[in-house]
Amino acid sequence: MPIPLLEIDKLKCPHQGVAILESKIGQVANIQGIPIMDTSASAWAISGCQGFWVGNVKLLCTSITNPHACKADKFKVLGKFVADAEKVDKLKTDKGFSVTLPNPYAKPFVKR
Ligand SMILES: [Zn+2]
Repeated sequence: MPIPLLEIDKLKCPHQGVAILESKIGQVANIQGIPIMDTSASAWAISGCQGFWVGNVKLLCTSITNPHACKADKFKVLGKFVADAEKVDKLKTDKGFSVTLPNPYAKPFVKR
């Protein structure tokens, strides 16, 4: 059973940046009023990346470029594919880094 990714989940790049989760198609459903994320966006912006140095150039992650990668294959809500918090390890920032989500908010609501 997938764990839905919610709008308030804090996906982080390795440099303390946090993704701003947004939907292109609007809210599909919610858990206790908190929107469940779908994978319709072409990218999710990242805010607050502290960056890293390549030579004397500082680079920042500015987005997650592949939201579709965390689509759960057989997990739809109201006919729409939603994002699976257990697949966030497949997401990459625009600088090629993986992101992490230590505590998916919806986890306690998903019965196993
Ligand atoms: Zn970063």
